[in-house]
Order: sequence, then C-alpha cells, then structure tokens
Amino acid sequence: MGETSSYQVRLVVLGGSGVGKSSVLKRFLFDTYCEKHSPTVEDMHYREFDLGTLTLKVDFLDTAGDMQFPAMRRLSIANAQAFLLIYSVDSKASFETLKKCFEEIREQRTDFQEVPIVVVGNKMDVPSDRRELLKEDVAEWVFCELPRLRVKVLECSAKDSMNIKELFRSFLILAKIPLPSDSSSLYRRSSAHASSGKAKGAEDGSQKSEPRSRSLIRRVSKKVSRKRECANSDNETNDCILS
Ligand code: GDP
Ligand code: MG
Repeated sequence: MGETSSYQVRLVVLGGSGVGKSSVLKRFLFDTYCEKHSPTVEDMHYREFDLGTLTLKVDFLDTAGDMQFPAMRRLSIANAQAFLLIYSVDSKASFETLKKCFEEIREQRTDFQEVPIVVVGNKMDVPSDRRELLKEDVAEWVFCELPRLRVKVLECSAKDSMNIKELFRSFLILAKIPLPSDSSSLYRRSSAHASSGKAKGAEDGSQKSEPRSRSLIRRVSKKVSRKRECANSDNETNDCILS
C-alpha cells in the first residue's frame, strides 16, 4: 500500500458583523443560505478533503466579527494558518473594519507575510446603486499598502452562490498545496461537525501553548492503508465540492 500525507490547516474567518462570514462558510460547507442574521460568537467546522495524494484537514473558525471578544480574537489570530477576511461591497465601513483586522494580524503575527490571506467582498449580488466599494479600489489598497503579502482579492455572493468555491480554491494556491491534475477529483472526505461558543484551542489552551512552526501547514505522514474514519452523521461524504 502507498503512503499519503495530510495537511492540517486552521482557516480563520474575520470581518465586521453582518458582512456574511457565516453565510459564506455555510454556503461552502452545506450549500445553504439564510436571509436572517444570527450573530455568531464562535463556531468551528471541521472538514477533510481528498486531494489525491494527500488529505487536507481544515478547521474553519467562524468568528463574531466585532470587537466584543478581544481575547478570543487574539487566540484565533494566533492559531490560524490562513485567514479569510470578509467585507461587504455595500458597506465602506466594513472595509474599514477589515483594515483593522489586517492590523491585528500584522501586530500579532511576525510571519504575517507568509500566511495565506484571501480578502473577499461579499454581497456582489447587490444592485449597483447600493454598491459602495469596487474590487479594483480594494485590490489597490491591499497591494499598495501590503505589497508582499501572500494575498488574493475576490468578490463573491453567498446568496447567489457566486465565486464561493473559487475563494476556497485560492487558499490552496496561496498555500502552495498541490491541486490534483484532475481538479474535479477534489472530494470532501468527511462531513463537518461544528462546535459553538468556543474554539477547541480556547477550551483546553493546547493550541496556544503549541510552538508554531514557520511553515504554514503542519504536515503529518500516515499510512493510506488504514481505512479512514468518516463522521457520517449527515451522509454527505465524497461529494465533489471544489471542482
Ligand atoms: P456575519 O455576521 O458576518 O456572520 O453575517 P451573516 O452571514 O450572519 O449575514 C448577515 C446578513 O447578510 C444576513 O441577513 C444574510 O442573509 C445577509 N447576506 C449574507 N451573504 C449575503 C450575500 O451574498 N448577499 C446578500 N444580498 N446578503 C447576504
Ligand atoms: Mg456570523
């Protein structure tokens, strides 16, 4: 039997309240969308993806999006291997909040230039007369102010399911995780579970005390012959979701 590798990544979603952080994640993970805004404290979702010769294990951390929980934010930034920073294209104020998120990352992470960051303008479905930000202006700020970051700027709509897969694929490219030549073979390995209220690392402190490698991704070798355990609670295994 051959050997495969696995990559462990924690992707932290930051941005102002109401920009659609939870909606983007839920569209990607469950292909669902809800008009109602239910403020998040902190939710963790776990997924494994089969990338052919390796298994990508991702913790998606959805955050509150306001400055109410500074200790939780600090912990989530400290433990991230990648960031999804979301603003809403119909709110200039939300882009100002995103800039603050950048600042927090820069202050806390000496390796901030190596961490994959995807900047996303959500709600690209809104009519043009409600739009307050152009992607070009956002990209100009990102690349002029922070030219050497490992960063990508995109727009998406959780509501209309536009560009959602593309933004998650951008992480693989920024993190230099090799995509299989047949990209249609990107499969979700196991269904997600979510834990609300507190991140795993926040519960036991283990993430905080772990020394952080400068490499963005923790690589773990394991035998492929062992049959993987899948959390099959919602019977959604092996759906192709990134193609
Ligand atoms: P969060 O606080 O950043 O997690 O925001 P939510 O995901 O809870 O969404 C806040 C509000 O924005 C909700 O009423 C959503 O229905 C709405 N929303 C989220 N994504 C979109 C989108 O792509 N387009 C539009 N028009 N509204 C959205
Ligand atoms: Mg939320």
